[in-house]
Amino acid sequence: MQHIRSLCAAAVFTISSPVPATADALLTDVTLVDVATGTLTEGQDVLIEGATIAAIGPDVTAPDSVPRLDGGGRYLIPGLWDSHVHVFSTPTEPDTALALYLLNGVTGIRDMGGLWPFAAQKALQARIESGDVLGPRLVLSGAWVDAAPGSWPGMFLADTPDEARAVVDRIAQQGWAAVKSYSMLDQRTYLALAEAATKAGLPLVGHIPERVALKTAISAGQDGMEHFGRVTMACATAEERMLDDLRRAMDAGADQQAILAVMAKRNRIILETWDQQLCDETLAQMAEAGLHVSPTLVVADFYTGTLPAPDAPRMKMIPAETRDAWTQPDFRLDAMTDELRSLAQDSIALDRRTFAMAHAAGVPILASSDASFANPYLFHGFSLLDELDLYVAAGLSPREALFTATVAPPRFFGIADQDGTLAAGHRADLALVDANPLQDLRTLRNPYAVVAGGRLLDRAALDGLRDDLLAAGR
Ligand SMILES: [Zn+2]
Repeated sequence: MQHIRSLCAAAVFTISSPVPATADALLTDVTLVDVATGTLTEGQDVLIEGATIAAIGPDVTAPDSVPRLDGGGRYLIPGLWDSHVHVFSTPTEPDTALALYLLNGVTGIRDMGGLWPFAAQKALQARIESGDVLGPRLVLSGAWVDAAPGSWPGMFLADTPDEARAVVDRIAQQGWAAVKSYSMLDQRTYLALAEAATKAGLPLVGHIPERVALKTAISAGQDGMEHFGRVTMACATAEERMLDDLRRAMDAGADQQAILAVMAKRNRIILETWDQQLCDETLAQMAEAGLHVSPTLVVADFYTGTLPAPDAPRMKMIPAETRDAWTQPDFRLDAMTDELRSLAQDSIALDRRTFAMAHAAGVPILASSDASFANPYLFHGFSLLDELDLYVAAGLSPREALFTATVAPPRFFGIADQDGTLAAGHRADLALVDANPLQDLRTLRNPYAVVAGGRLLDRAALDGLRDDLLAAGR
């Protein structure tokens, strides 16, 4: 689900913080929202010192020099996480992306792969942590490993178990947060990769390779999986047959077009052989194993033509060259016949139905958008909110949807000073919204204030960010 159109070799980046954001602050009269339990606590004050919540209570005091923001009873939630993004697909993408996240109340992102050298990714992460750059907290999980020649430039490559072990050594040495498996790995190499990741103490996340069964990934100890299609496919009695068809084609040396043709047949077969009982069993196994899923359901909007108008604000906030690339005719859409479109609609509906079942079965979900300049119409920030709306449309309560973006991510990433609850000692990553988000997520679209790493952006500062983005995107 990565479509990189323009490749840029050099990572030249200049990031500034155009908006003044205060370091210490006292938020008064806010209603704390506990997303884990669904409880509200009115009339609270929250003192932020540096990057940390220093105190929470009904009567917190602070020196007169500390700026105050009167919450007026508004609702305070932990800042949102988008657990699957790509902010490094062009040399300047973070300039726009980081601001778009803050504007939408997203104060944490997990990057899943890009074109910047790792040292440059690390450097930006450090500048955000130190407060030198204003942006969401950044988890670097883009150490993607694929079979040669690699689905995207710059990937780690492994075609044998030995190569897989060597690659994991390099990933661990460099200091990535996880190993990310990718689509074209063969099963032996994938299993060696999983074993080596476990030995190195690194989570294995990413795509379930196209020749590997979901069950095999569960028993290999895969910790997180990206995108939802392979869950639906594992609910089809023909999963193994579909995998075999691909293995045979690849063993026979099929070219890329032939491989894609084999995979293109999968949607129809899944629709024909999806089985409720098999699905219940599969989802129970996933829940039992704690296999976290980053669904990226919003990706499907592109295929159904659910796209923003050309003059929608979000379109105007991205660079003109990105907008131009996105609005080029797309071969995948041009190749859509009415029959294919209806097949796509049916597949999307089945994915969403299976997603609701997965959530109900206790499969842990990490809200994820796949936002990237390289992925047409997937917007940093906005698409995460769209994704949450899809969860609610699929049957989750607003609280359950919020849980996937606030509580589940920091717990899965093992972040020490964040767990999706509001408490003293935790990192001050927050969003203050006008209405109760446990009743309706629409209030997330227009936060009254956002706190990122302790830096308070009030409504005027957020408006400033928005105006800067609109000016830059012109
Ligand atoms: Zn992706």
